[in-house]
Amino acid sequence: MLVKDTSQLIGHTPLIDLQIDIPNHSRIFAKLEMFNPGGSIKDRLGQFLIQDGLNRQLIHDGTTIIEPTAGNTGIGLALAAQQYHLPTILVVPEKFSYEKQQLMQALGAKIVNTPSKDGIKGAIAKAKSLHAMLPNSYLPMQFTNPANPETYYQTIAPEIAEDLKDIPITAFVAGAGSGGTFTGIAKYFNEHNSHIQNIAVEPEGSILNGGKPHAHRTEGIGVEFIPPFFKNIRIDQTLTISDADAFYQVRSVAKQLGLFIGSSSGAALAASLKMAETLPDHSHIVTIFPDSSERYMSENIYAK
Ligand code: PMP
Repeated sequence: MLVKDTSQLIGHTPLIDLQIDIPNHSRIFAKLEMFNPGGSIKDRLGQFLIQDGLNRQLIHDGTTIIEPTAGNTGIGLALAAQQYHLPTILVVPEKFSYEKQQLMQALGAKIVNTPSKDGIKGAIAKAKSLHAMLPNSYLPMQFTNPANPETYYQTIAPEIAEDLKDIPITAFVAGAGSGGTFTGIAKYFNEHNSHIQNIAVEPEGSILNGGKPHAHRTEGIGVEFIPPFFKNIRIDQTLTISDADAFYQVRSVAKQLGLFIGSSSGAALAASLKMAETLPDHSHIVTIFPDSSERYMSENIYAK
């Protein structure tokens, strides 16, 4: 494959038919988003957010892009902004991985850290105040921008549908951070087959199932407020996965399949396996592996 720039490497990632022990003779198909050039599913979002800002004439020459992020959206945005020579400021709570912050800086972005105890809400507030202070700046705001779910509706969902062709999907299982991935893909699948069950995944410490918010090791998923996108989508079940269960799957997939998946992927797999126990025999479960474990090595992702 001959390509001319990095943006051509985004998307069309492999879908793996997992060869592991799955209850009730079911199959689990996982989309391997680590194969995007910035290493995660959020490269797709970075492209869409910048393109959307350009289309709506909210981005001009030299506009500074400002965004609160757990890291992967920051990397995706920095990658897309580079193409248009746009300066980028990413507001990241301190707790998020060292490697992701290094990658954002390598792409030319500036990082503003906010205290971990203020969570993503603290980063959102700081990004808003920077945007108010800085003329010619643009805040895509992934948490409310309809371009977020639209990204996945238009790209990853049809890719999965094409790869599976005649294999009917029983359930779709995905982690929720901003909720964009879950909402966009679920909407596409349900438009084509309203019987597909939509299963959202969160770590313990996230509030979707009514739990108290607290810190967790699983990175990239978990919410401090109900994602506004969830108003427009049917959620059949939300599964809350412990850090221990997510990290167990991270280790197991490396050992059994030679795949280095991140902790949100581990949680998605743990939830998919739980679903396989309750769904009819020979179900087909589709899930998303958003990134790789290599960007969490400093957090000892493989340590027991
Ligand atoms: N997994 C990882 C590793 C992520 O970085 C993110 C985005 N924060 C997600 C899952 C969740 O994606 P979304 O924001 O679309 O819900």
